[in-house]
Amino acid sequence: MKSMHSKNLIIRVLIIQCLAVVCFAQEFDFFYFSLQWPGSYCDLKRSCCYPSTGKPASDFGIHGLWPNYIDGSYPSNCDPDSSFNESMISDLRSKMQKEWPTLSCPSANGTEFWGHEWKKHGTCSESVLDQHDYFATTLNLKSQVNLLQTLANAGIYPDGEFYSLESIKGAIKQGTGYTPHIECNVNAWGNSQLYEVYMCVDTSGSNLIKCPIFPRERCKSQIQFPSFSNVETPSFLSAI
Ligand code: AMP
Repeated sequence: MKSMHSKNLIIRVLIIQCLAVVCFAQEFDFFYFSLQWPGSYCDLKRSCCYPSTGKPASDFGIHGLWPNYIDGSYPSNCDPDSSFNESMISDLRSKMQKEWPTLSCPSANGTEFWGHEWKKHGTCSESVLDQHDYFATTLNLKSQVNLLQTLANAGIYPDGEFYSLESIKGAIKQGTGYTPHIECNVNAWGNSQLYEVYMCVDTSGSNLIKCPIFPRERCKSQIQFPSFSNVETPSFLSAI
């Protein structure tokens, strides 16, 4: 009789443990929040096209909010049934156009870029952030980081000058409390340029955290912060 009771108890404990694994399994460990400098995107050897709504402001734009694992790998395209539905974010549309501008060619209204980010990355954090919250949370992070101002506070401006990679990282640590990862691109003249800034964010999408892991560093020790306001209108746009 006693052994029957203990068997039942063991079975119950096992069921509870299984439920805990299924219900609370962590789908990812943290987010990378990525901001992009349009002056560098448009200074690449490949071309850029301004959004159909017009040239973006001279400010960092959002690239994405990407679920990641602490080993550096990341999940992608987690839910093929969850398509991007613009009507769910209609209240965010004008802010998205300003803060998350599409720059690929041909010129577009942003839907394709945002849809790509949702399908590839957003669907992998769907248990935490639904489609509306995913975009609203990402927009909030942009205001929280206030990157252009943070760099300006340290005397770092998009003026075409070269700055040390360490001074850029130091300025961002000073302003936000956390060291970022910097991605660089190489322009047509071979200059290493400030292209993207990655900050790490907890799984709720609300708080910046210390990065558990950084991608491989590919920038040179001195990098250019190109202007965007002086970027010449791409020839294929001025011809229109
Ligand atoms: P991801 O797949 O999220 O790593 O983003 C990479 C893709 O996003 C590539 O196809 C890029 O060409 C595209 N991409 C990056 N930045 C932009 C941008 N500002 N506008 C449009 N597409 C972009």
